[in-house]
Amino acid sequence: MLVEAGRNLKPGEVPEDIAARYPARAQFNPNNVWPGLRVSMGRDGNNRAAATVRPYEQARILGGGSAINGIGGNRGSPDDYAEWVSTGASSWSWESVLPYFKKLETDLDFGSDRELHGDSGPIPVQRVRRSEFAGFIRDAASEFRRLGYEERDDQNGKWETGLFGTAVNLDRDGKRASTATTYLSAAVRARSNLEIRTDTRVNKLFVANGTVEGFEIVAHGRVERIVANTVVVSAGALHTPALLQRSGIGPGELLQSLGVTVRVDRRGVGRNLLEHPSIGVSAFLAPHARLGDGGTYHLQGVLRWSSGLSNTPAGDMHTAISARSGWHAVGGRIGTLFSWVNKSYSRGEVAIASSDPNVPPSVDFRLLSDKRDLERLADAFRLCGAALTAPGMAQTVLEVFPSTYSERVKKLLQLNLRNQVLTSLIAPIMDRSALVRTGVLAMAQDGTSPLAALMNDEELLNRHLTKHVGGVWHPCGTCRMGAATDPLAVTDTDGKVIGLEGLYVCDASLMPTIPCANLNFPVIMMAEKISDVLKQKLAG
Ligand SMILES: Cc1cc2nc3c(=O)[nH]c(=O)nc-3n(C[C@H](O)[C@H](O)[C@H](O)COP(=O)(O)OP(=O)(O)OC[C@H]3O[C@@H](n4cnc5c(N)ncnc54)[C@H](O)[C@@H]3O)c2cc1C
Repeated sequence: MLVEAGRNLKPGEVPEDIAARYPARAQFNPNNVWPGLRVSMGRDGNNRAAATVRPYEQARILGGGSAINGIGGNRGSPDDYAEWVSTGASSWSWESVLPYFKKLETDLDFGSDRELHGDSGPIPVQRVRRSEFAGFIRDAASEFRRLGYEERDDQNGKWETGLFGTAVNLDRDGKRASTATTYLSAAVRARSNLEIRTDTRVNKLFVANGTVEGFEIVAHGRVERIVANTVVVSAGALHTPALLQRSGIGPGELLQSLGVTVRVDRRGVGRNLLEHPSIGVSAFLAPHARLGDGGTYHLQGVLRWSSGLSNTPAGDMHTAISARSGWHAVGGRIGTLFSWVNKSYSRGEVAIASSDPNVPPSVDFRLLSDKRDLERLADAFRLCGAALTAPGMAQTVLEVFPSTYSERVKKLLQLNLRNQVLTSLIAPIMDRSALVRTGVLAMAQDGTSPLAALMNDEELLNRHLTKHVGGVWHPCGTCRMGAATDPLAVTDTDGKVIGLEGLYVCDASLMPTIPCANLNFPVIMMAEKISDVLKQKLAG
């Protein structure tokens, strides 16, 4: 039985917003995400500043994030997986995971290169061609070339820094390929040994005598107990630790304080929460530099670069070059250099606030609490600010400004008629009047300081980053794998929860450290690898 809290997504019946190459309509559709989830984002290096609390999107639909994400499809570096091995996840070296990265994909560009790519997996991947680049992407890329970054052909090739056309998981028809329609194909759904229950939430697991015995589900107000001796929890890095904690598996003190009977006292459940801390610098684009077609993929280019900070790996930084910053008329006029620390070190925590499954977990990312992350995000901000204000961009951009996912911006990104009407009225006026443009942008950005001030004042920039840092919807690490002797590991290297029989975790929670990658492909790779282990175990 496969249980999903959100709605079904069937092959051949995929709604237009989910199938589309432009993914933001799906991401900001409230029907596709968990309601009421708010998280604490930034902290300064001393954990002193109050964190900014913001809504945070996590998928609630069959296929999870793969059904609504930004469709970037990449893997991370060989060093990421060597790092996993060094933390105790001994069976997850690059050599061990590469076969699964190949297995999951059909690479439409490089499938014939058998060393690094696959040509017969469920998930198609292809790259945005340079000939498709919008004017803004072309011009920003040539600024970065001027700074010495070279053009590269394959984001999933040999790990090297440079400028790439983004690798995306789109099929030959340019449609999103989510796990709900590829892995759960019509043939798989027809299997007699598979039952899929959607719009059904798991409330808690039943655990007794060191063994999982099943779980409780609720659908349309009806509660049911399901008996099972093997359960795999794949609820994502925020909801998996919450489900375990509600079921009595987690830090004993926390559970007792909430009246939850402690079944397995494991301190690591909910700890080690990782994300990629991000910040944007945006530009209101001259008409010729815009993407034009609202249905086209917008994050067309990627700059992978190295901060050079000591003890950080090559390619620890990522700047996505986007020719559109929202689904609506104003968003279509804004280009963004959206940067994130691809190898981040700040760690936060997920803890249930109540044993009631209706109450969202409390999530504190503590982004930038590790000074190395703050320092590198500041470098990224300055790099992007300098690139967009360079003389070579003068014909491309009309106004450059620091951009944020402020609450006001998120409200404007919600998919609804009000936002559509409002933005289509104001956008043409912003084209004509610099005064209106500056005023509207400043209002949406919630009083951020002007770009020039931030570029020239380190203290001010650090405050800006601490307040406005976002993530990339890449939470992970909250039930990390490790050695059985590691008191903070939650599972062994097969994803089996330490101290319990029959209970497995298989999702982004398992990651011991965050890879230099968008997480969808790494998560699918992990699912492929763990399913091989489970098949063997269950057969034996
Ligand atoms: C807006 C957005 C944009 C992103 N962009 C990209 C991108 O461009 N490229 C990329 O590689 N990655 C991207 N990601 C990240 C990527 O999609 C995720 O890292 C990946 O999907 C995580 O997989 P997961 O299995 O850990 O969790 P999820 O994909 O979140 O799946 C968890 C599933 O469990 C369900 N669930 C949770 N709790 C319960 C419960 N109690 N009962 C029943 N069901 C439950 C959820 O509804 C969800 O469907 C993005 C994610 C988001 C949200």
